[in-house]
Amino acid sequence: MANSEFEYVRKFEEWDALAPSNWIVVRIDGRGFSKFSKRQNFAKPNDRRAIDLMNAAAVEVVKQFTDIVIAYGQSDEYSFVLHEDCQLFERRAAKLATSISTAFSVEYCMQWDKYFPGQALERPFPTFDGRCVLYPKKKILRDYLSWRQADCHVNNLYNTTFWNMVKGNPATETPPMTTTEAELALKGTFSADKNEILFKRFNINYNAEDEIWKKGSVVYRKFEDKQTSEEATSADQASRPKEDQDKKKPKSKTQLEKERKRKQKARVVVEHVDIIKDRFWQENPWILE
Ligand code: ATP
Ligand code: ATP
Ligand code: MG
Ligand code: MG
Ligand code: MG
Ligand code: MG
Repeated sequence: MANSEFEYVRKFEEWDALAPSNWIVVRIDGRGFSKFSKRQNFAKPNDRRAIDLMNAAAVEVVKQFTDIVIAYGQSDEYSFVLHEDCQLFERRAAKLATSISTAFSVEYCMQWDKYFPGQALERPFPTFDGRCVLYPKKKILRDYLSWRQADCHVNNLYNTTFWNMVKGNPATETPPMTTTEAELALKGTFSADKNEILFKRFNINYNAEDEIWKKGSVVYRKFEDKQTSEEATSADQASRPKEDQDKKKPKSKTQLEKERKRKQKARVVVEHVDIIKDRFWQENPWILE
């Protein structure tokens, strides 16, 4: 195999396969989006075009990588969850993170014109970094997703209050503040304080704000043949020898191929729903199966 005297340099490469039986989260995040969003005149606090573009890119990535079971996005970030049994790229961390983050970056740039028509995308073009994080249990994976969704809510409440203070409101004789003044005024405030500022000075009922800003975006496959999928799983269980039925057996190649095809056919949806409470997971139990 050694085809040159230089071959030995391969040994310097690190084998970075992720531990088996762990849920893999690939989190991507826009590089320097504070600046980028200013340069592209994103509406503050929330630009609908920008979030629609993020979601469109995420949908394509989920379609492309059938190992992704669910994705959650907010602001300039997206978390892609790969199944604990995922074998893509032999679970090599760098391959997974770079393949997903580059696929996302390309989609974001290629679909830019659709969401920002007539607004040129200039260098430096938007790119997204990516990292892999492992979660050994479903419970911890769900806590991770809850953490991101709670973060979305906290940031959105802050940003909504902050940008309204900067804009001011003549109707309640609230003068505009500088960004430094608003930052100072919000230092040490609690959620309740921000809700009250929004209500009293800006006539905004935070609870009535769009779910997309409060909850972020959840991307997953909706199977039209929900019943059949459940039947297939239980039939497959029953056909195994008794002693195996309780254990999780690795799936055969044909089984995996069938599953991949079924996933490719499924509709990928974007929803702005609560994923902290149990309800979403009870309604979609197959996501983490
Ligand atoms: P880094 O490269 O370290 O990630 P960053 O500038 O991207 O730096 P983030 O913490 O990722 O820092 O913040 C992303 C920023 O992008 C937010 O502060 C926000 O201003 C902006 N942003 C993202 N999405 C939107 C949107 N839909 N509308 C308005 N602004 C947005
Ligand atoms: P992987 O995803 O594992 O990298 P791959 O198909 O990209 O799979 P590589 O070993 O990276 O496998 O091989 C790249 C292939 O791209 C080469 O086999 C070659 O056929 C093709 N290729 C790359 N550059 C050129 C080129 N300039 N002209 C023609 N073919 C090219
Ligand atoms: Mg496990
Ligand atoms: Mg960023
Ligand atoms: Mg970010
Ligand atoms: Mg290649």
